Amino acid sequence: MARHYDAIVVGLGGVGTAAAYQLSRRGQRVLGIERFEIGHQQGSSHGETRIIRLAYFEGTTYVPIVRRAYRLWQELGRAAGSPILYRTGSLEMSEPGYDFVDRSRASCLDHGLAHEMLDVDAVKQRFPAFELSAGTRAIYQPDGGYVLCEAAIDAHARLARSAGADLHTGEIVLDFRATADGGVEVRTDRGRYSAGHLVLTAGPWMRQLVPALHDHLATFKQTIAWFAPFRAELFQPPTFPVFIHFGDDGEFYGLPMHSGRGMKVGGPHFAREPIDPDVTDRTPSSSQLAALQAFMARHLPAAASPPQQPTGCIYTKTPDEHFIIDRLPGTPQVLMISACSGHGYKFAPALGEIAAELVVDGATTQAIEQFSLARFGLV
Ligand SMILES: Cc1cc2nc3c(=O)[nH]c(=O)nc-3n(C[C@H](O)[C@H](O)[C@H](O)COP(=O)(O)OP(=O)(O)OC[C@H]3O[C@@H](n4cnc5c(N)ncnc54)[C@H](O)[C@@H]3O)c2cc1C
Repeated sequence: MARHYDAIVVGLGGVGTAAAYQLSRRGQRVLGIERFEIGHQQGSSHGETRIIRLAYFEGTTYVPIVRRAYRLWQELGRAAGSPILYRTGSLEMSEPGYDFVDRSRASCLDHGLAHEMLDVDAVKQRFPAFELSAGTRAIYQPDGGYVLCEAAIDAHARLARSAGADLHTGEIVLDFRATADGGVEVRTDRGRYSAGHLVLTAGPWMRQLVPALHDHLATFKQTIAWFAPFRAELFQPPTFPVFIHFGDDGEFYGLPMHSGRGMKVGGPHFAREPIDPDVTDRTPSSSQLAALQAFMARHLPAAASPPQQPTGCIYTKTPDEHFIIDRLPGTPQVLMISACSGHGYKFAPALGEIAAELVVDGATTQAIEQFSLARFGLV
C-alpha cells in the first residue's frame, strides 16, 4: 500500500527545497523526491551565487514578493548558522536604445525604493572597473546583492529534514494521478506514494510531468564562468556591485568576487540555445563563451582573463518570461511553481512560502494572479 503524506514535493532544487522546508515547518508530513542528489549541477540552481535585487525591470508587481524573499533569506542564514544573503548594491546599465533602466526605475518609483541614476562618468567614478559606451545610463539600487544558491539548497534541505520531512534522492517521479478522495498518487521508479497535495517544482523537467505545459515552456542553455581579475580590489564591494548590462551585444550580468573563485559573469541572457534537460552534457557552447569573453574585454578589461570553470545551466522560459504559480486545471490538489524564466532564484524562499500557504491555508497573501495559467488559455 502507498505511503501517505500531507504533501509531496517533486524536485528538490532551489524552489522545491524551500517548499519542503516551509511545508514541514508548518507541521505537514512532507515527502520530497529528487531525481539526482541534492545540490546537483544538472538543473537551474547551481553555480554558487545568484543575483537578488529589488529594482525589477521584469515587472513592478514582483517587488513585494522579492521583499518577502529578502526577509526569508536572512532568516534562513540565521537558522543555517551562516549568511546566505549579501548586500552589495545592484547596478543596471542600458546602452542607448534599451529601456531596461527606465523599467527598473519605474519599479523603484512605484515602491519608494532608494535609487540613483548615474551617467557614464558617475559609474566610472564609483565603480572604476566598468568601461561603458557613450550614452549608457545606469540605475543603482543599494539593496541589491546576491544569495549563495548552493548553500541555500543545502540549508533548506537540512532544515526540512530536521522538521521531519522525508527527502528521497536518486528517485524519479514518473507520473501522478488524482485519487477519488481528492488526493493524489505519485508513481516513481521505486514505488508509489499518496498525499493530500502535490507540489511540482521540477524546473526544466516540468513539461515532462505536465504535458499541458508542453507548448508553453522552453528550455535553454545558459553559460556562466569565473574570471580572475588582474586588479582584485576593483571587483569587491563596495567598489563592485552585482550588475546587469543591456546593450547591442546582449544582456550580461555579474557578481563581485565571493570566494577564491574570481568574479562570476553570465550571459548572453537572451540567447535562445535549446537544450533537452535529459542530455547530461552541460558544456557551454563556444558561441556563448566567446560572447562572454568579448563582453569582458569590452566592458570589464581589468578582469578579462581566460574564463575558468565555464559551465552551462538551464533557463525554463514561458513565452512572456513570467512565472507559473497555479493549480493544475481540474486538479486543485496539484500545485505548480516553476518556469522561473531565468530570474526566479532570488524568490525561492518566498515561492516556497507561497506553496506552503496554498497547501495549508488554501490561499496566499501574495499577488499571484499574474502567474496563472489563464494567460495561456489553460483553465
Ligand atoms: C546561468 C543561470 C543564471 C541565473 N541567474 C539568476 C540570478 O542571478 N538571479 C535569479 O533570481 N535567478 C537566476 N537564474 C534563474 C534561477 O536560477 C532559476 O529560476 C531557479 O534556479 C529555478 O529553480 P527551480 O527549483 O525551479 O529549478 P531547479 O533548481 O532546476 O530544480 C528542479 C529540480 O527538480 C528535479 N526534478 C525534475 N524532474 C524530476 C522528477 N521527475 N523526479 C524527481 N525530481 C525531478 C531536478 O532534478 C531539479 O533538482 C539563473 C539561472 C541560470 C541557469
